[in-house]
Amino acid sequence: MDRDVSDPRGVAVSAHATGARTAGSRQGVTLLGSTGSIGINTLDVLAKHPERYRVVALTANTQVDRLYEQCQRFRPQRAVMLDSDAAGRLAEKLRLAGVPTEVSAGNQALADVAASPEAQIVVAAIVGAAGLLPTLAAVRAGKRVLIANKEPLVMSGGIFIEEARKSGAQILPVDSEHNAIFQCMPNGFVAGGSRPEVRRVLLTCSGGPFRTWPADRLVAATPEQACAHPNWVMGRKISVDSATLMNKGLELIEACWLFGLEPEKVEVVVHPQSVIHSLVDYTDGSVLAQLGNPDMRTPIAHALAWPERIESGVRSLDLLEIAHLDFGAPDTVRFPCLRLAYEAAHAGGTAPTVLNAANEIAVQAFLDHEIAFTEIAQIIEATLDRSGTCSADLLSTILAEDEKARRLARELVHAHGQARQASARSTGGGA
Ligand code: NAD
Ligand code: MG
Repeated sequence: MDRDVSDPRGVAVSAHATGARTAGSRQGVTLLGSTGSIGINTLDVLAKHPERYRVVALTANTQVDRLYEQCQRFRPQRAVMLDSDAAGRLAEKLRLAGVPTEVSAGNQALADVAASPEAQIVVAAIVGAAGLLPTLAAVRAGKRVLIANKEPLVMSGGIFIEEARKSGAQILPVDSEHNAIFQCMPNGFVAGGSRPEVRRVLLTCSGGPFRTWPADRLVAATPEQACAHPNWVMGRKISVDSATLMNKGLELIEACWLFGLEPEKVEVVVHPQSVIHSLVDYTDGSVLAQLGNPDMRTPIAHALAWPERIESGVRSLDLLEIAHLDFGAPDTVRFPCLRLAYEAAHAGGTAPTVLNAANEIAVQAFLDHEIAFTEIAQIIEATLDRSGTCSADLLSTILAEDEKARRLARELVHAHGQARQASARSTGGGA
């Protein structure tokens, strides 16, 4: 039976059109970024429910072998790779193995597959701004869109919410904190709608691998150390974001869009155990929280089946084993990225787009050993200082500002490299 979810602003969203299951039918699922950490966890949940879901399309950047294995196992109708050489290699391997998956390549193919009518559910699990256009295509096509890929929301959250309202798409958060908040929201809550009875949300933050490191040690932090997260196994970009606390900064902006909140109503609380995934503070003094073992299969399973619940493979929480939960305030002096994100959220317009673009460039430069860990924040701050802020109503403006900020951040990375070489020469270190 069809069930209508009412938007508080009066837009009726048909759960049938956007992914609710009719008796006996299997829902088609497309995974954007199936070879990454979220993609693999999603396939793990889907594999437990072959009677509910069928995989329609899988996509990846360049990882041929992993996508080949996934195609062999899940037999999607289509596979898309960004890279055309990689797509050619995949097509050949599949042909030799007799797997009838149709392979295509490029950005347009990604957007096409995201909007294709065979899938009712699209999982947005590409990393970074690269996911913007395919995810937006899924939203415009009225899908149930499971959003792990937070960067597009940071860049253009207003456009996503507006397009979902027009198409009837259901945006469901997979980011564990936002999924937790969604679970604690009142019945009938729809992404982008604001609720007056919500006083604020508390976004929990593990503190990352450098939570206890003194400031003077951070300068020498290596990519390997930054990617060794204490509680979660994730892709390299989000792992570095967790180490700088930029991940929490991006999540703060993501929360503002998803839950219709001003930035001052989103409070970050350091909680090293990552057991409470976030909380909602109501006007009557009630605080609702969602708890669970830190395992992304829980929010993925929740968003796939919502409003039903399905088995995810995650073991039950053992509170006696955990014994105690700790909380603290974030340190924005050692971790300035969180301060920069609050400032960008307050500035609004294209400031979050610039923040995100500069962060993507700086994180890649750090992973490539071009800059030190502490230079990530410096490059983002300098990019923000040199960029104006304009209205973020048009996608064309957002994409142009994103491109400009990336160019600027690259120049700054280069300038930092030259300054380091000059200082090494003057101290004899470059000899
Ligand atoms: P990952 O690096 O492990 O995987 C990224 C996926 O995107 C891969 O399949 C890759 O092939 C694909 N990809 C990369 N660049 C691409 C491009 N230019 N075009 C098309 N496809 C491309 O990343 P991840 O850890 O799975 O994270 C994915 C997204 O989910 C990120 O935005 C991250 O912030 C968010 N997220 C991740 C976690 C987590 O636990 N890993 C938790 C919350 C949110
Ligand atoms: Mg998160």
